[in-house]
Amino acid sequence: MAAGTILVIEDQIQNQYLMKYLLEAHGFRVVLSNDGPEGIHAASIHIPDLILLDIQLPVMSGHDVAKALQSDSLLASIPIVAVTSYAMPGDREQVLASGCTGYIEKPINPATFVDSIRDYLKLRKPTDERRGIETPGGCR
Ligand code: MN
Repeated sequence: MAAGTILVIEDQIQNQYLMKYLLEAHGFRVVLSNDGPEGIHAASIHIPDLILLDIQLPVMSGHDVAKALQSDSLLASIPIVAVTSYAMPGDREQVLASGCTGYIEKPINPATFVDSIRDYLKLRKPTDERRGIETPGGCR
């Protein structure tokens, strides 16, 4: 039985492979997307349990992707975890303001990555709620 479905929106193939490898080794099903529009489309098809979102993406910034996901009532309750190499003061706040639930820093630490994902998964709402009416603003 799968531990859950994780959508990874990330343009760098090495990071895609590392996240996929670590998550699949722990029983997760992983869907990979290379950019924002592809990722939003994949989210609507797969309804993942959690979305890992790179912030530095081509086509559409991760901030805009997070806002678009939040504005879709079917997707708004899925936790979004930003994955970014930004380490400047204020970046975390900006990521959270975009609607992300949390933040994982690059480079990904294989020793703590899956535990972090499991912690963020505890924040998701029950599936039946996810398909119902969402709270305005989508904050969680
Ligand atoms: Mn990137």
